[in-house]
Amino acid sequence: MTIEKKFSVCGMCTVRCPIQVDMKDGDIKFIQGNPHSPLKGALCARGAAGPGLINDPDRIRTPLIREGERGQGKWRQSSWDEALDYVADKLKTVIREYGSRSLLWSDRGGPFRDLHQAFMKGIGSPNYCNHDATCARNVQHAAMSLFGFGRKGVLYDLKNARHVVLQTRNIFEAINVKEVNDLLDSLGNGGKLTVIDVRANVSAAKANRFLLIKPGTDYALNLAVIHELIDKKLYDADFVEKWFKDFQELENFVRDYTPDWAEGKTGIKAQEIRNFAADLAAASPSVIWHPGWMNARYTDSFYVSRTIYIINSLLGSIGAKGGLPFMAKPGDCGRKGLKALAGLFPKPEDKRADGAGWKHKHIDPGPGLLHLAFKAIETSDPYPVKAYISYRHDPLMAFPDPEAQKKMLEKLDLMVSVTFSWSATAWHSDVVLPLSPYLERESIIAAKNGLKPHFFIRQRALEPKYENRSDWEIICGLAKRLGLDAMAFDSIEDIWKFQLQDTGVSIDDFEATGIVPLTDKPIYFGEDKFQFKTESGKIEMIAPKWENSGIPSLKPYEDKPDPGPGFFRITFGRCGVHTQGHTINNPILFEQMSENVLWINSDKASEMGIAEGDMVRVSANNSYSGKLKAHVTSFIHPQAVFMVHGFGSEVPAETRAFKKGVADFRLMKGGMDIWDKAGGGVALQEHFVKVEKI
Ligand code: SF4
Repeated sequence: MTIEKKFSVCGMCTVRCPIQVDMKDGDIKFIQGNPHSPLKGALCARGAAGPGLINDPDRIRTPLIREGERGQGKWRQSSWDEALDYVADKLKTVIREYGSRSLLWSDRGGPFRDLHQAFMKGIGSPNYCNHDATCARNVQHAAMSLFGFGRKGVLYDLKNARHVVLQTRNIFEAINVKEVNDLLDSLGNGGKLTVIDVRANVSAAKANRFLLIKPGTDYALNLAVIHELIDKKLYDADFVEKWFKDFQELENFVRDYTPDWAEGKTGIKAQEIRNFAADLAAASPSVIWHPGWMNARYTDSFYVSRTIYIINSLLGSIGAKGGLPFMAKPGDCGRKGLKALAGLFPKPEDKRADGAGWKHKHIDPGPGLLHLAFKAIETSDPYPVKAYISYRHDPLMAFPDPEAQKKMLEKLDLMVSVTFSWSATAWHSDVVLPLSPYLERESIIAAKNGLKPHFFIRQRALEPKYENRSDWEIICGLAKRLGLDAMAFDSIEDIWKFQLQDTGVSIDDFEATGIVPLTDKPIYFGEDKFQFKTESGKIEMIAPKWENSGIPSLKPYEDKPDPGPGFFRITFGRCGVHTQGHTINNPILFEQMSENVLWINSDKASEMGIAEGDMVRVSANNSYSGKLKAHVTSFIHPQAVFMVHGFGSEVPAETRAFKKGVADFRLMKGGMDIWDKAGGGVALQEHFVKVEKI
């Protein structure tokens, strides 16, 4: 039996693990994590379910152009030429009337975004956005406010860590395969794990210490840990002396935030906080208190991430092996990086519609804030935004209050969705351009920075079964029609050659393993090579950019309201077999989990006469309510209810997922206006819901 190996990249979540696809006679026989990568063959359940996309009868097979009203689901099939001509003509009209800046783009970020950003720069629009306002914007800005560089300036050396703390990071369910494997290695070698959460998730089940925290009080806990580290002199004094600026201000600020004070706020015993701080100090500097991944939770989540980075810094773990070492890039290996497609065009001169970088001077203009860009669509302030392309992004499922969003989107003259699967946003679009599922798709070459930087490639394992196209075919097809000749590539090989110019790497070098390493050995920078990008070159407790915007660097703790009788704070998260909304309808994963349940505290449930498996109604202060089964457990805080995000599809074309479970984001009325002003993240857990037994 001759097996052909194809090296590619998983597309079932935004992690994009390198994979090996074993093919025989044109069929997929097996998928595994690329054995030449640190995955060593491992994949998660979602990665293994990729083939479910290929023969799915719900798959979008041709371009579609809307015939009825938006969201009505009346489509006509079209050829690619007709669909791309249609989109390009509409874009030309919008640009003629309102200027290039009237086009908005959003995607899910990741290693292939260079092509998208090139397209937007070619058009001349500054309004490239990604999903990060509902993900890691607060973390990004917390890092920038202290270090002058973003969250990817350092990495997590989980494998070598002696103590890992997960707060707003559920690593064993919101899975990144390499990180999970590395953490398991650390635990296997005697490393400790602490989990802080409002419920005992799977990560908590593997922890040495689980701290059940009152929802919305994480900042109080972190302030108390800082207090304890400083008060008991448990911090790394040499590191602080060398790298901290304004340490005295920090010390003064946390003086009253004692563990006893924090016990009253968080519900975590003061002695437990003291023991925890001592354990962290004992393991320093090989400590990772993870600053969060999806941390768009509360209006003070920026400060949660910021205090996490401060704790890591106090423990000397920034830059340390087993802590958060600096991210190495190709240049650190004496190599050139990929040539940027975005470099083909000059930076657009206009200011961003969402105000990032000018109205909100402390906000990194990179991927902007999509909720504010949507506001600009609604108000035409600071200028009209009239066309919107969502690329594999589903804001109507990922951002709160879809009915409010739809009102904003009414003002668009053109709404296009590029997607391989149905989504609420695609269903509401004017044109759907069907992307190939990733096993049928080629993408631009990607670079991975880290301890061992490398390039990696996504090749097609299968030829497209229907009228689906790769991202580069769609974007270059539009570029051609819009006169962006510099990026009107005719083949993926031409793009790959362009990217590899001057790198000393050829396309053939990917043949054997799909990966081209740029160094043999992990790169750890010594302290002489540390580079903080702040004005002082140090870790700044007082961040001038934030202070100049009227935002305190060290914000006093403020209490949040408690839920009223019969109400709970809504919390949400991931499970190991789904990636938010886009995998629920996958035939293989739907079989694993077809609807969500409502976690509710057993004491509260008993007061309300709710037993395990009872149907309950969840509603907010709007017309939406949903019914789902109760999961009664003592492993959730009494003030919170929890559900897995992504369920409750209202898209009939998702025949399996349609109306299965409840949609958390529909319960977040007015949520587009509730966001963390310091970090930019939408505050998705600042909502209360009513729960009733049916
Ligand atoms: S974590 Fe799982 S779903 Fe995500 S890219 Fe890796 S294998 Fe695919």
